[in-house]
Amino acid sequence: MTHDDFTAQTAAEFLSRFGRAADGVWSAPGRVNLIGEHTDYNEGFVLPFAIDRRTWAAVGLRDDNAARVTSTFSADEVEVELATVSAQTLDGWSAYPLGIAWALGQNGVELVEQRGFDAHIASDVPVGAGLSSSAAIECAVAIALDERWKLGIDRPTLARVGQLAENEAVGAPTGIMDQSASLLGRRDSAVFLDCRSLRSEIVDLGFADAGLEIVIIDTKVSHAHATGGYAARRASCEAGAAALGVDSLRDVSVADLDRARELLDDETFRRVRHVVTENARVLATVRALRESGPLAIGEILNDSHVSMRDDFEISVAELDLAVVAAREAGAIGARMTGGGFGGAAIALTPSHLVADVTAHVLEAFAAARFTAPEIFTVAPSDGAKREL
Ligand code: ADP
Ligand code: MG
Repeated sequence: MTHDDFTAQTAAEFLSRFGRAADGVWSAPGRVNLIGEHTDYNEGFVLPFAIDRRTWAAVGLRDDNAARVTSTFSADEVEVELATVSAQTLDGWSAYPLGIAWALGQNGVELVEQRGFDAHIASDVPVGAGLSSSAAIECAVAIALDERWKLGIDRPTLARVGQLAENEAVGAPTGIMDQSASLLGRRDSAVFLDCRSLRSEIVDLGFADAGLEIVIIDTKVSHAHATGGYAARRASCEAGAAALGVDSLRDVSVADLDRARELLDDETFRRVRHVVTENARVLATVRALRESGPLAIGEILNDSHVSMRDDFEISVAELDLAVVAAREAGAIGARMTGGGFGGAAIALTPSHLVADVTAHVLEAFAAARFTAPEIFTVAPSDGAKREL
């Protein structure tokens, strides 16, 4: 289905479910993080881009206080009264769209009569693959409500609203990266985000001109953010920063690592070293893109994967194999992307080798008796926008 078909179908589905036309259709993309993993909550740097997989929200205001949401993703229709909505009572998939309404309320928007709305949602962002279907649904709803409620909130602030919804209403302790990429992304470009100042710059990727594509290898190994390893890594980073006497690991430079090795236990040191060197790699990637173009970033992506595998220990056998096999077949750089413990790897690949990389990775997974991965390309695309 083309993206125009999605827009038309989401509007048509709204009409048939709610018995009236939507006020409009808004969409927001998923994202891939090119580099900068587990740096966001350490007030560091990230370099994601918005992808050509999106979530569409058809939205229509009501003249009462109810909010109803439906999605092609689920048979449930969920209805709440906005005036009484709370982060604790929202659950399941509806916590994402309704959490946005709640989070806007936390930002001073009065959830009074006449702010009610109906929303129908559809998406072609794969769920749970590390491509942030969660930010896509949040940001589509956020720009729709911002426009229909006539709020005029700037996009960096809307990104914080999305993060608040995800942290409090959904209960996932994620950073600001995903929503920033989804709201600020631009075609053929990445979003270079300083997670301390929240300042962002658009960086030209130039993949198409260089004959490169990003291949996604979704391992189908599911990751779970709210529990386990992710929280443990955050705790290690906090412990490392405290032991080094800094507010966050953003304040530790590569030159400080010798001292850090003396002060920290081995595991905490390796966690810290990942974050510190990963921040340096993001800066090196931005510099290389600006000065030399995307052919110059392959080795930096490879180094990032090694750091996540050995120092941060968030890779899994399937991700390591995806990276190795993609490089064997001609990818110029590859790394796992996202929070880790599953999800997807990315491989920066010359266009004429995409078929070889795909075939070779599939063969390698079959030989290892791993579940077959899903492999597809994504293109750097525009951020959230009104479609209809
Ligand atoms: P990821 O963001 O990596 O895809 P998450 O676990 O963060 O994975 O978010 C996935 C969850 O977001 C889904 O389980 C669902 O609750 C919600 N979600 C995403 N897309 C949709 C959609 N189109 N309709 C309804 N809920 C969705
Ligand atoms: Mg997510």
